[in-house]
Amino acid sequence: HAEVALYQVKAQGRGSYGFHTPELSAQAAERLELEARLRHALGNEEFLLHFQPQLDCVSGALVGCEALVRWNTPDQGLVAPTRFIPLAEETGLILPLGDWVLRTACRQGMRWLDVGLVLETIAVNLSARQLLQPDCVGRIEQALSATGWPAHRLKLELTESMLMGEGDETEQRLQALRALGIRLSIDDFGTGYSSLAYLRRFAIDELKIDRSFVRDIPAQRDDREIAATIIAMARNLRLRVVAEGVETEAQLEFLRERGCEAYQGYLCAPPLTPEAFAARFGPR
Ligand code: C2E
Ligand code: CA
Ligand code: CA
Ligand code: CA
Repeated sequence: HAEVALYQVKAQGRGSYGFHTPELSAQAAERLELEARLRHALGNEEFLLHFQPQLDCVSGALVGCEALVRWNTPDQGLVAPTRFIPLAEETGLILPLGDWVLRTACRQGMRWLDVGLVLETIAVNLSARQLLQPDCVGRIEQALSATGWPAHRLKLELTESMLMGEGDETEQRLQALRALGIRLSIDDFGTGYSSLAYLRRFAIDELKIDRSFVRDIPAQRDDREIAATIIAMARNLRLRVVAEGVETEAQLEFLRERGCEAYQGYLCAPPLTPEAFAARFGPR
């Protein structure tokens, strides 16, 4: 518990000592416990990946998948990433966890390849912390060489905020990743900063329309317009465009008619275990 005590001293050292209400302390204690459990989980192999298929909007063919991390806790079962990724990012645990996700996704891709299930790409979410690491490119290269997964079949999903206001180093890293053949996708497109200059500055391959713009298609006129505008812009810029969170036939039809290339969402499948994924999409 020495580590816990030290953390508390640090946390309270920010000039707010003496103003802590009991609720705040309870919150801090909860955070600390979660952090300790996260740390333990990494060594204890409690993380796993689910894979959500991505399909061609026109043909319905499988084009790839997105790897999404899960935490299988001994007491609470599967925990969603929204409950632990933010803390993993704050504490830096996202670095070893991110490495694990990358390797595990690539290794899974190779396993599927061995049984004749060929994926054009596997998409992996990258955190800002990972991209800001000086040896970011080297770590990603290592994951590829350790597993044998081809660089051109790896797609990294970045968010707009990761690119905004970032300097030459980020630009150089993204260029190096691109030079390896890795593809770059902008996740949750439209929810971040409004400047589009980074699309030109960084060599991006793909935009992913955020689920919030897809959800109320076709009922909401504004959302229809936003989705259609993103698709049109992507096409003009020769970027691939993928819609996320597609749940209904009507949404898919709208997106397809506007020229969206691929989609993922409950309409086809939720994120699946590797076994379920292979059972559904593998050769018979
Ligand atoms: P995201 O990258 O935007 O991932 C899409 C989320 O939408 C996933 O939630 C997925 O399960 C959910 N989803 C997919 N289709 C549908 C649908 O049709 N309807 C609805 N309502 N939801 C759908 P999930 O798996 O809980 O992941 C949440 C977020 O956690 C991700 O959002 C991503 O930002 C983050 N995340 C997940 N895995 C990783 C990872 O390995 N590394 C990092 N850095 N972040 C991750
Ligand atoms: Ca994503
Ligand atoms: Ca997304
Ligand atoms: Ca999203």
